Amino acid sequence: MVSHHPARRGSPGPGQTRMVDTPGGIIIYTLVRKRVKNLNLRMGAGGALSLSIPYGCPDSRADQMVREKWAWITAARARQAEAPELPPLPSREKCREMLEEALARVYPLTAPLGVVMPELKLRAMRSQWGNCHWRQGYITLNTALARCPERLRDYVALHELVHFLHHDHGPGFYQKMDALMPDWRQRRKELKSCVAALERQEIT
Ligand SMILES: [Zn+2]
Repeated sequence: MVSHHPARRGSPGPGQTRMVDTPGGIIIYTLVRKRVKNLNLRMGAGGALSLSIPYGCPDSRADQMVREKWAWITAARARQAEAPELPPLPSREKCREMLEEALARVYPLTAPLGVVMPELKLRAMRSQWGNCHWRQGYITLNTALARCPERLRDYVALHELVHFLHHDHGPGFYQKMDALMPDWRQRRKELKSCVAALERQEIT
């Protein structure tokens, strides 16, 4: 890669701590300038807020964005605080055992529909719980699922199995989920609170 801005290469640095008065009270955040196109607001462990902005974008524009997003920030922090405590990640072998068990529990729901038992691959993923490689006949499950309650592991395993029948998230996919696991929407909601818990415990 050839950089046009050699002085700006590498780490963007620690950032600048700023304080904004919003309708929800004072919000403290870290402002980081990076080679980005858009303003990018992120919440990390413990509700720590970080905003990356392009070089040349004024501080006042960053403050304004935090002020506009105060309701989202407050709600996200509340979700993090309420998130359940999750157990630590078990060993790789134990993860495999737990996720194979989840797959074995839900597979009988899809077997009568013609789904062939897929190969199971495990991966630590940052933004996905699972993946279905229907052409190749395997599914990938996120190892972090081993930290989540059993019923949520089952939900993700079933979701990926149903992708062998419906490759996208069209109406047919959701009809099948409704038929096989009527409370899947509730489980999906619970899984979102696990995301918040994983984020809270994230070591940065
Ligand atoms: Zn899907």
